[in-house]
Amino acid sequence: MKRLALALCAALALGALGAIAASREPPELRETVYVFGTLIEIVIRGENEAKARSAAVAVGDLLQELHSDWHAWRPGQLGDVNAAIAKGDLAKVDDRLAAVLREGRLLGCESGGLFEPAIGGLVGLWGFHADTPPEGALPDTRDLADLVRARPQIADLIIDDTSVSSRNPAVQLDLGGFAKGAALDLAAEQLRANGIQDAVLNAGGDVNVLGRHGGRAWRVAIRDPFVWGAVAAVSLAPGEVLYTSGNYERYFEHGGARFAHIIDPLTGKPVQDIVSVTVLGRNGTRADAAATALSVAGPEAWPATARAMGTDTVLVIDRHGRIMATPAMRDRLEPIAGDFPTQIETVTLPDIEQPECSRG
Ligand code: ADP
Ligand code: MG
Repeated sequence: MKRLALALCAALALGALGAIAASREPPELRETVYVFGTLIEIVIRGENEAKARSAAVAVGDLLQELHSDWHAWRPGQLGDVNAAIAKGDLAKVDDRLAAVLREGRLLGCESGGLFEPAIGGLVGLWGFHADTPPEGALPDTRDLADLVRARPQIADLIIDDTSVSSRNPAVQLDLGGFAKGAALDLAAEQLRANGIQDAVLNAGGDVNVLGRHGGRAWRVAIRDPFVWGAVAAVSLAPGEVLYTSGNYERYFEHGGARFAHIIDPLTGKPVQDIVSVTVLGRNGTRADAAATALSVAGPEAWPATARAMGTDTVLVIDRHGRIMATPAMRDRLEPIAGDFPTQIETVTLPDIEQPECSRG
């Protein structure tokens, strides 16, 4: 319920910032679909209603399809892959899932293993393979340690065209760290193919934009993880994306402590120090994965991880409310009501060599 309310809040923030009511404004069509644990809003602007509606319905259908194909714990294509891996068998997938797995492999490698879509076992042990936030006892530390030791990695997958198997039976795929990004990229591609020029796909603050909002850019808010409201706004150029990984929405509360749904693959424990990472880029899949990886990297290491993942426009908020931004992000931030909430530190990314990674 809380998540739905927050998603709605983000959607409203987008609407409020993006639209200035004027009588001669071209029409705007809005559709919503509840998938990937969030409300996704599709806004199509400046098209005749029939064309906009059929494009929005097609996007809704696509997202529903991806939601069931890529689901981490309900029966579906990914569930079949996980079942096959556990038995040491080979699974057949469609081209779309094969491509996402290859992309996941590339991004996992670039992140130095911090973005790790093979840790479904750990995510499940922490109780996040459910529609409602987990409650009750914490997972058994021995179970966690055993799984960390088994070191499931997406690099263990053998992807041969559309056949998938794993060298490591501990691999359990959970695409939650970049599924929304990958899905919105496909949805944006489909909108373009259907001749839509100006649109927004908004998954609770994770956004892909097409074109512009009339004479202006689409303007999107970055939520404040501590209080109801936004830290800043960003005007997105045509084709840009903005993704936030938050540790304030989905968490496990136990004994007064909060355990986030982003897990450090090396310790098996939820991340603690960073509450929110926002990445601006041109590819939703990459931005979503990077936001998750930087959350794991923590307050010291995130700049190096950002560099390694080729993302230079980043905003990070830690548990103490410290706000850090790269120079490229700093240039893009716009105050919402007069001023920014607290001082924003500028953090320059280090000059390090890009890791050599591939999809193969
Ligand atoms: P949000 O859903 O808030 O946008 P993320 O994009 O960071 O947040 O996705 C979090 C989800 O990613 C978790 O629910 C889980 O399914 C998965 N996940 C958790 N830890 C990792 C990790 N280290 N690498 C990749 N995926 C992860
Ligand atoms: Mg993510």
